[in-house]
Amino acid sequence: MSQMRVRFAPSPTGYLHAGGARTALFNWLLAKHSGGRFILRIEDTDRKRSTAEFLDAILEDHKWLGLVWDEGPEIGGTLGPYYQSERADTYAPFIQKLLDEGSAYRCFCSPEELDDRRSRTSQNGRDWKYDRKCAALTKEQSAERKAEGRSSVVRFRIPDGKTRFEDMVLGPVEVDHQELDDLVIARSDGTPTYNFVVVVDDSQMRITHVVRGSDHLSNTPKQILIARALGTEPPEFGHLPLVFGPDKQVLSKRRGAVAIGEYRRRGYLPEALVNYMALLGWSCGREQEFFSLDELVAEFDIAKVSRKAAAFDPEKLVWMNAQWIKRLPLPERTARVVPFLAAAGLISNTPDDRQLAELERIVSLIDDRLKTLADIVEHASFFLADNVTFDNIAVDKVLTKSDSVDILNDLCGVLSHAPDFEPATIEDLTRKLAAVWGVGVGKVIQPARVAVTGRTVSPGFFETLSLLGRDKVLARLKFASELAATLTTE
Ligand code: GLU
Repeated sequence: MSQMRVRFAPSPTGYLHAGGARTALFNWLLAKHSGGRFILRIEDTDRKRSTAEFLDAILEDHKWLGLVWDEGPEIGGTLGPYYQSERADTYAPFIQKLLDEGSAYRCFCSPEELDDRRSRTSQNGRDWKYDRKCAALTKEQSAERKAEGRSSVVRFRIPDGKTRFEDMVLGPVEVDHQELDDLVIARSDGTPTYNFVVVVDDSQMRITHVVRGSDHLSNTPKQILIARALGTEPPEFGHLPLVFGPDKQVLSKRRGAVAIGEYRRRGYLPEALVNYMALLGWSCGREQEFFSLDELVAEFDIAKVSRKAAAFDPEKLVWMNAQWIKRLPLPERTARVVPFLAAAGLISNTPDDRQLAELERIVSLIDDRLKTLADIVEHASFFLADNVTFDNIAVDKVLTKSDSVDILNDLCGVLSHAPDFEPATIEDLTRKLAAVWGVGVGKVIQPARVAVTGRTVSPGFFETLSLLGRDKVLARLKFASELAATLTTE
């Protein structure tokens, strides 16, 4: 069998969201699993709604997810151009071929006439279908009307019969041509329509397999018929079940589904998104839940895609993201949080080795508390910022207690004489101080934690202090004790 060639054909009229990106992913996996090629074709013929911003975002998202294309924008290829807007001259000869051979005809019915006939038919409760008024025109009659300057569209003549195809996901599909309309393939200004263009492009780019959302299922018999009329073999088709969001609506750019770029900015890992999207309708048949892109390439089988609609669960995605963050080796995890800390102004974008080593210790201490990479800012800011930002509730709850000032002052005194600032030493001195006070160690730790971190929850207390270093800790204990003194005046 010749090499598999698949394509993903986004229109840059919106951002890529998890539904569209899943289609791209399944196409990519199908190609890569069989050693085939993945082609990215930009369907930008809707000039009004297509923007450079959406296009850039789509390309960036593919790269970020690891769905690198073999032919397409930026890199080109032998069967381009890969922007539909640059292919405008390609289609006219094929429209003409269909007209010459009688597989298409000119339709002179004006929009008003069509509306009129449509509304009369709809009143009878039937779905409107073009009534083929112009299908019976002879070539001469048609040429005459055209010569008179009358405006016309080109319609594809749907033949009698049925179209059957074996869908890679849905299995056998059969459509009676009675259900199909003689669709317009070229508008009155000569521009070809989606169903025609896509057939020509798929054929010229030698696409062997088309995987797309099942919202396109009704287009497939039309495209198969057009391909055959053009004398080319249609590709194999696979229609993916739709993805529903938590609002029970199909994920769609029009309904504001979260853009892939937004997930990136919120600190999701591409590994997690890819893994999560792969499981939207596909499973390997075993219990396994975590898959790297390479593992997916090895395992992916389009026949195992479910026919049932998939539910997009943002909470499951967050969970999976946290799991993937946890799985990253420490140096890698550290490298990935750098841009988030830099964006928050807590470190420079290019930390030196010493800063990186310190950051690695912080990240290690934060351990598995990160659900997204962006969470690092909340967890690490008190380590990196000069001053503590106090959580008001923590201050009210803890620092207003009458013994806080003395506890903080005592701890400050004890730690200032500590022989070293290792976690074990700090723990030992803190416990001894608690014993002197005749209280549990928690009583000492509570105000000290608020003093040093600004809140009531933090990574391990002794390790945190050790990492912050003596100078910062003493300064913060002192500052908090002065603050507490202003609050506990009773
Ligand atoms: N540009 C079309 C879309 O975004 C592609 C349809 C297809 O895959 O044939 O829906």
